Amino acid sequence: MTDAIWFDPSLMLIGGGWRAADATLTLINPSDGTALAQIARGSVTDIDAAVTAAHLARQSDWGRMSATERGRILTRIGNVVLDRIDQLAAIEAHDVGKPLTQARADAIALARYMEFYGGAADKVMGETIPYLDGYTVYTLREPHGVTGHIVPWNYPMQIIGRSVGAALAMGNACVLKPAEEACLTALAFAHICQDAGLPDGALNVVPGLGAEAGAALAAHPDVQHISFTGSVRTGALVQQAAGANVVPVTLELGGKSPQLVFDDADLEAALPFLVNAGIQNAGQTCSASSRILVQRGVYDAVRDRMTQAYADLTVGPAMDNLRVGPLISSRQKEIVDGFLAQGANLQIAAKGTLQNAPDRGAYVVPTLFTDVPPDHALARDEIFGPVQVLIPFDTEEDAVAIANSTDYGLVASIWTANGARQMRLAKQLRAGQVFINNYGAGGGVELPFGGIGKSGHGREKGFEALYGFSTLKTVAAHHG
Ligand code: NAD
Repeated sequence: MTDAIWFDPSLMLIGGGWRAADATLTLINPSDGTALAQIARGSVTDIDAAVTAAHLARQSDWGRMSATERGRILTRIGNVVLDRIDQLAAIEAHDVGKPLTQARADAIALARYMEFYGGAADKVMGETIPYLDGYTVYTLREPHGVTGHIVPWNYPMQIIGRSVGAALAMGNACVLKPAEEACLTALAFAHICQDAGLPDGALNVVPGLGAEAGAALAAHPDVQHISFTGSVRTGALVQQAAGANVVPVTLELGGKSPQLVFDDADLEAALPFLVNAGIQNAGQTCSASSRILVQRGVYDAVRDRMTQAYADLTVGPAMDNLRVGPLISSRQKEIVDGFLAQGANLQIAAKGTLQNAPDRGAYVVPTLFTDVPPDHALARDEIFGPVQVLIPFDTEEDAVAIANSTDYGLVASIWTANGARQMRLAKQLRAGQVFINNYGAGGGVELPFGGIGKSGHGREKGFEALYGFSTLKTVAAHHG
C-alpha cells in the first residue's frame, strides 16, 4: 500500500456512508505484481442499496438544488482535486501502472472536467417554439434521474470526470462501478466530493466484479441511464441488460484508430504524435493510434524516424516515470502477447527497451511492425497494448479504403498540407473525431467524443454530454 492513500480503500460509499462489503478483492500493483490494497467486492444487494440511496438524493437536497449551486459544488470538487494532485497521481501510478507524469495529467483532466461542467451546469437551456395561436410551447432539459457509470481501468480519473461530471451537472444522482483492476482514484474522488460538499447519495461508489456488481447495475430496473466504457463484448451485454428496461446507454468501446500520412506531410511535426498516440498508457487507450498509414513517397522516411523514436522508448515501473509503464495486469499481458505471436511472420521495424522492470510486473516492450497487410489481425483488431503497425498506401482513395476497413470508428487523423484533401477526408473518414495535422488536440474536455460502428454510440465530453445526460420535455400551454 502506498502512503498516498489517505482513506480506507476497502470501503464503498452508499448514501453518504462508507461501509464494508461482505467480501473483498485484492488490487495488484502492475509494476511489480505485489498486493496494493483490499477493495470491496460489492454485491447485487450493495448495488441495490446504492440505487435506492441515489433515488433518495434526487428526492431531497440534491434534487431540489439550483443548477448554479450544483455548478459551484462541481467547481469546488475540481479545486480539491487540484489540492490533492500529488496524492491522486501517485495512487493512479501504483494502481494502473501509469508513469507518474501521465497519472498527473489524468488528475489535471479530472479537475478540468469538474471546472468545465461546474461552469456549464446553469447554461443548459430549453427553447420556446412558435406554435398555433393561443399556445405557448417551450422545452425543458431535465435529468434522467439515477445514472449508472461502469468505468474501465485504463483512464479512471478521466472517464469518471467526463461521465460523472456531466451527469452531476445535469442534476442526476450517480452510481459508479469502477473496474476491479483499478478503483482507488474512484474512491479518492468520492472522498473529495464529500469534502467539497456534494450532498449524500448524489454519488455512490460500489467497487466489485463486472459480472456481479457491473451486471447488477446495468440490469437494475430503477436506473434511468447507463454510461459504459470498455470492451465491445461487455458493452453489448450492458446494452442488452439496459434494453430489457428500455433504458438509454452511452457506449464507448475503443477502436483501431488510424493516422494517415501523405507525401506532403510535415514529418517533423507528425513524428511525436505518430509514436506517442500509440504508446501512451502502454497502448491501453481507447483512442490509441495503432495503425499508421503512410504514402509510399515518405514510407521509408517515416519508418526510419519512428524506428529511431522507438529506440528511446524505455519501459519500467510507473514510479520511475519512464515513457512506458507496465500493462494493467498479467491477464492483459497475455492478451497482448497473443497478438504479438500472431505477428511472428511479420517484419519488426523497432522495439523499445526494458529498464529496471521487476519480473513480476506486466511489461510488454513497445513493438512497431512494418509492411503489415491491412487485413492482418494486427491491423484490424484492438490490441490494447504498445503495438503499432505501419501500412503503406499509394493513393488517397486507397488510404480512405484502408482507414475505413475495420469494424471501429473512434478517431482518425490526416497529415497533409493539401487543404482540399483535409476537407475531403474529414468527411470521408468513419470516425467520431477527425484531427487535421495533429492527433487528439491535447485531449480537450470541451470536444465531444465517441464512436460509430463497434466503437459505440452516444457522445461524452464537451457540452454535448449534457444533452446525453438529460432528457427533453416539451410543454405546450393552451391559454387562448
Ligand atoms: P471490460 O469491458 O470487461 O470491463 C470494463 C468495465 O466493465 C469494468 O468496470 C468491468 O468490471 C465491467 N464489466 C465487466 N463485465 C461486466 C458485465 N457483464 N456487466 C456490466 N459490467 C461489466 O474490459 P476488460 O475485461 O477490463 O478488458 C478487456 C478488453 O477490453 C481489453 O483488452 C481492451 O481491448 C478492451 N477495453 C477497452 C477500454 C476502452 O477504453 N474502450 C477499456 C478497457 C478495456
